[in-house]
Amino acid sequence: MRAFVYNALPSRVVFRVGALEDLAMEIERLGAQRALVLSTPEQRASAEDVSRRLGARSAGVYAKAVMHVPVETAEAAREMAKSLSADCCVAIGGGSTIGLGKAIALTSDLPILAIPTTFAGSEMTPIYGITEQGRKKTGRDTRVLPKTVIYDPLLTMTLPANIAGPSGMNAIAHCVEALYAQDANPITSLMAEEGIRALASSLPVVVSEPDNIDARAEALYAAWLAGACLGYVGMAIHHKLCHTLGGSYNLPHAETHTIILPHAVRYNRDAAPVAMRRISRALDGVEAAGGLYDLAQKIGAPLALRDIGMKAQALDEAARLATQNPYYNPRPLEYASIRQLLQNAWEGIRPG
Ligand code: NAD
Repeated sequence: MRAFVYNALPSRVVFRVGALEDLAMEIERLGAQRALVLSTPEQRASAEDVSRRLGARSAGVYAKAVMHVPVETAEAAREMAKSLSADCCVAIGGGSTIGLGKAIALTSDLPILAIPTTFAGSEMTPIYGITEQGRKKTGRDTRVLPKTVIYDPLLTMTLPANIAGPSGMNAIAHCVEALYAQDANPITSLMAEEGIRALASSLPVVVSEPDNIDARAEALYAAWLAGACLGYVGMAIHHKLCHTLGGSYNLPHAETHTIILPHAVRYNRDAAPVAMRRISRALDGVEAAGGLYDLAQKIGAPLALRDIGMKAQALDEAARLATQNPYYNPRPLEYASIRQLLQNAWEGIRPG
């Protein structure tokens, strides 16, 4: 067996249908007296419900989280936390809301209790991102890792198929890249393979039977595994490309992941044979890249960059941006091959 290093991240996970009922108990456990509740404007009602459940331990609601954590939003939220003397943040929502909580924690050390309602996985990672003048800067800091995570599959019931599907593919991408990460280890590889298996089997049901709580629970469980993989090990070409495309061309996060993933896997196919075998095993024996494309198609997710607003004229620049700074990937980065990868993803063709 290959030598490895495994750094465990300290967080408490409470997972069950109806787990939101444990909120007051979990806040008490954190020793918090005044929690600032965060959400997007669309999820304000959920944030207000959380605030009601907290009773006297709620300091207020800040329902202005938006995608990619603009620095202005982060500063306004930090100001509000300070003026209300908040001693904790409760973030209910997807990666955007949890990201806002992380921006507050980064400068204040306030503990975060996260209640994820998508499959993005941010709640399990010490990774934060803040966008300033159109550029998203990301970093790792254990201060932003949520102390407690409450996973309640009931909260994902309102997630429509067009958000749930790509969000689940985003989670699969964390698992896939964990399998060929530079610092991959046997523990994260177990989580990663199981995460792909559970998402590949549950996502089609989440989309076709929106009321199926078992499928939602299975997908959320897999999202937890996927988020943990992202938190534990470094990512590679897939995440780099998605970061470049999202940041430079303002493409939607989860949909970009969905479209790029099969092509990134195809790019790494010959350089990461063990990872490919494990992905394939998790997909019931289908070849990794094609199987991921077929899964995206089955759940009705977008398959082509041109369908989510990417301009053909920007592909040369995107390939340049994605290859100009060196980073780890099992297969070396070559401009011409990355340009071809982007072309294939733009057209939405099934990787051969
Ligand atoms: P999101 O948080 O932007 O949510 C998308 C939309 O879905 C929002 O309008 C939200 O209000 C709504 N929504 C969320 N849950 C819902 C529910 N249960 N029912 C109905 N509507 C719901 O999307 P996301 O994909 O979860 O997060 C994307 C962001 O998270 C990106 O900025 C990405 O970079 C970041 N992210 C960060 C990490 C990390 O480790 N730091 C990991 C993954 C994603």
